[in-house]
Amino acid sequence: MGMGIGMGDDAVQPFKLDGSGFHGRLVRLGPAADRIIGRHDYAPPVAGLLAESLALTGALAAALKFDGVFTLQLSGDGPLKFLVTDVTSDGNLRGYAGLREGAPMPGTGRAPIPRLVGKGYLAFTVDQGVHTERYQGIVDLIGGTLQDCVHHYFRQSDQFSAVVKLHGGRTRDGQWRAGALMLQRSPETEDPNRQDATEEAWREALIMLGSCTDDELIARDVSAHALLYRLFHEDGVRVFEPRSLQFSCRCTDRKVERVLMALRDDELEEMMVDGKIVVTCEFCNESRVFDREQVTGLRSS
Ligand SMILES: [Zn+2]
Repeated sequence: MGMGIGMGDDAVQPFKLDGSGFHGRLVRLGPAADRIIGRHDYAPPVAGLLAESLALTGALAAALKFDGVFTLQLSGDGPLKFLVTDVTSDGNLRGYAGLREGAPMPGTGRAPIPRLVGKGYLAFTVDQGVHTERYQGIVDLIGGTLQDCVHHYFRQSDQFSAVVKLHGGRTRDGQWRAGALMLQRSPETEDPNRQDATEEAWREALIMLGSCTDDELIARDVSAHALLYRLFHEDGVRVFEPRSLQFSCRCTDRKVERVLMALRDDELEEMMVDGKIVVTCEFCNESRVFDREQVTGLRSS
């Protein structure tokens, strides 16, 4: 383990509570979150929400069986126009935010969703390629935090009977970190004759989950195992093989070239500055520069 890298960073740790049968996942992001956020120069409320959204994306995606891309999108009429985070089934995570021009950003720390994103919606998509189903869940943004908004979604969803605790924040040395602790039950597997006991166990598990502090959720020096053990050892917590998450953007030279090839001549001319076209990926902020000769070459090939 490298110096300064937290235990269990950039990973999804699945777990099960043997006593009650509930299961869950603990997502902890260190360098991955810091690299994704560090590619942009967002105001702290936006960066904080992006951090939480990355952790939430990791937690929700790990709860679904799919082969492709899981996307979470927040969209609204506030100063933060939209925020997109996505993860592939291989654990490649990325995200960015779109700001509304001329709209002043509220505050310098955390800002409530209604002031930051305004009226809007939260959407989830699973894309498994052209010939497969796209699952989409969409709900109005209701609540002060992303955690509240996702709980509103859970209440309306057939897919999830769950709760999640989210936090994103910066360490004293300025590194972004994020965490998501999600606990789920599967009503279809629960014994109807033990319903009272199951409800009681669920309430207790939620109290334990609620006792996890923001600092603890993202702490570099508390391992995922140690945290889960502290919270759930009385219910017999069992951990499974963790899955890693890493920052990786899916933009490629080839994709950008295809976009340039599809444009009209006048559109290309408009993009040309000093004989060059600069295409910047919104997700990773990486710029690719094409001179006139390259563009002409592409379009005649
Ligand atoms: Zn990119």
